[in-house]
Amino acid sequence: MQTEALWKFMQSDLDVDRFENEMRQSPLRAKYMKQRNSLVDMQAANKKLEEDVVAMYDRLEAVKDEAERLAGQLASLLASIGDTLPEDLEELRKQEAAVSKLEGNLQRYEQELTRMRKDSDLKDKQQKDIRLRAARAKAELDKVKEEYDAEFKRDKTRLEQLRAAAEKASKLVDEHTLARYRATKQHVTPPLARMNGNRCGGCNMDLPAAMLVRLKAGEELECDNCGRILIAE
Ligand SMILES: [Zn+2]
Repeated sequence: MQTEALWKFMQSDLDVDRFENEMRQSPLRAKYMKQRNSLVDMQAANKKLEEDVVAMYDRLEAVKDEAERLAGQLASLLASIGDTLPEDLEELRKQEAAVSKLEGNLQRYEQELTRMRKDSDLKDKQQKDIRLRAARAKAELDKVKEEYDAEFKRDKTRLEQLRAAAEKASKLVDEHTLARYRATKQHVTPPLARMNGNRCGGCNMDLPAAMLVRLKAGEELECDNCGRILIAE
């Protein structure tokens, strides 16, 4: 095992990981994501409002038609009552009941129309408000995006340099060792541990005497406790 080459490779490999992590945790990136999500929410709310308004206008038209129909019915009922006098009291009561039923229905529709008109005004206001806020949010987002894009471009260049350095360092390590390193890294990082006297430098556990002997003899071993590849002194 090419111990020093492997150790050097690990350092540049971890530099890549650290930098990738920093990029992910960039405050500017977080700000950009947050503002972008809030704009998406506003756009969704606006779309919902638009759909509501369309549905409301359909309903408004239907209610208006129904109110007109009832008003027509009431007018013709009143006209027919005016033409012929009721034959008896019961007939008169029937006519009165029919008229007051129609009037009641008509009133309910008119109340609904009033309520719907108010609701529609409110929704118009809400829509104007949300459109204004979305336009402002979009302008802010564009600004943040410009800053974030510039940061990302800078970071990407740096990341490529770090990756190239790690790639170069990896060339000095044989395939078998690299594969072992990568497999170990899946479970524990950093994946290498130097010996600290008789202890694993990664988890600080004392290593069994038999293991120390085998390590000194040049065997490739992992720490039983943390799984790191042990680098003998
Ligand atoms: Zn260990």
